[in-house]
Amino acid sequence: MSWPPPDLADEALALLREMLRVDTTNPPGNEARIARDILAPLLTREGLKPTILEKEPGRSNLIVRLAGSGGADPLLLHGHLDVVAANPARWTHPPFAAVEADGCLWGRGAIDMKQTVAMQIVTLIGLARAGFPLERDLIVAAFADEEMGSGLGSRWIAAEHPELVRAEYALSEVGGYTLHFAGQRFYPIMVAEKGFVWLELTASGDPGHGSMPSRNNAVLQLARAADRLGRRPLRFAATPQMQAFVAGLAENLPEPKATIVRSLLHPIPFRLLGRALFPNARTADAFSAMLHDTAAPTRLAGGEQINQIPTTVRAWVDCRILPGQTTDGLVELVRKRIGPEIDIRVIAEGAPVVTEGDDPLLRAMQRAVSELDPGSHALTNLLTGFTDAKPLAALGVRTYGFSPLVLPPEINFAALFHGDDERIPIAGFRRGFHVFAGMVKEFCSAATSA
Ligand SMILES: [Zn+2]
Repeated sequence: MSWPPPDLADEALALLREMLRVDTTNPPGNEARIARDILAPLLTREGLKPTILEKEPGRSNLIVRLAGSGGADPLLLHGHLDVVAANPARWTHPPFAAVEADGCLWGRGAIDMKQTVAMQIVTLIGLARAGFPLERDLIVAAFADEEMGSGLGSRWIAAEHPELVRAEYALSEVGGYTLHFAGQRFYPIMVAEKGFVWLELTASGDPGHGSMPSRNNAVLQLARAADRLGRRPLRFAATPQMQAFVAGLAENLPEPKATIVRSLLHPIPFRLLGRALFPNARTADAFSAMLHDTAAPTRLAGGEQINQIPTTVRAWVDCRILPGQTTDGLVELVRKRIGPEIDIRVIAEGAPVVTEGDDPLLRAMQRAVSELDPGSHALTNLLTGFTDAKPLAALGVRTYGFSPLVLPPEINFAALFHGDDERIPIAGFRRGFHVFAGMVKEFCSAATSA
């Protein structure tokens, strides 16, 4: 029997449109305007019992569960309701109007990640209506505050209400979209994500008058340090995750491209060939970030007067670490790069996440890819950013990024993420929803555990 029925995709699309019209820019987020005003009434009408949890008023997290027989542990589908800011002056269509044009639905959150939330909620509703017997519970969680570090969302829920989100597996954002490369179509499934270490650097020097400069100037020290950190990545490492990703790419490419791609796992060919191989600088930077511990200076502060040399100035540096690296290891690399004079303080950190090995859900996602886009290739990959998977993985959940979407070659997924003119191809979304809902149904019905 074929499930879902075609009109369920219309419902997912309608829900996405409705959510895109609500401005949930974080801060202030206002996720209640979706969770309380749209999702909770929708679920309640279907006879479901959503729970709303708020650490701060207006910052709603919504969790809903469809019970299975308990023959297997739950599958959690999760997403976030907040979005990053959009500057309307830079957009072709207003960012919170859900305009349909050129075969796409336009709006902030169309890719990151209201489209996934719409798929997840409507999949659960469809399964509830159909009344299929499920072996495992299906949980959907729509979190607040992911874009500002999840302190009011998944991190808080995982700490205070872990029983609501504890599951064997979780699926969320970023994987499952089309990656066009060398004339082939690939679908990365996210099996790992980098960690982050946020640093505050403080440089101290001699105060003095700007008319009589001394060499021990804190501004100069800090500028040198920032330059050294930002100029090139901190460390190259070909993690097992990237070895698998590159092997999967190369396997499906003709020679000599295959050999060239394989050589990128070594630092010298990477430096010599890496840039030339990618269609644009952005893709090259993204690939480079998958193979390095990186440091990006992002904020500077200090000094008061134009004619006064300050005693101390500060810089904030966003460092990202590969699986296998630790916070201490990262700080050591930074210390070596910038020298002993500058004070280094860790202000926030999150460990890398890795879901290792094979399991029935990974195989289900690989099958879903061949159904989604016959002739394409499923790959496993490492995400350079971080997601709500971090606190869930800490609860022992096997977390994956998979939100299937077919993209035409002219749409660069990476550039739309937090970018201008964020939009989703409507046909690709429908196709993705159909395959996603079918996969979730199969997976929750079968009594297979890892
Ligand atoms: Zn996101």
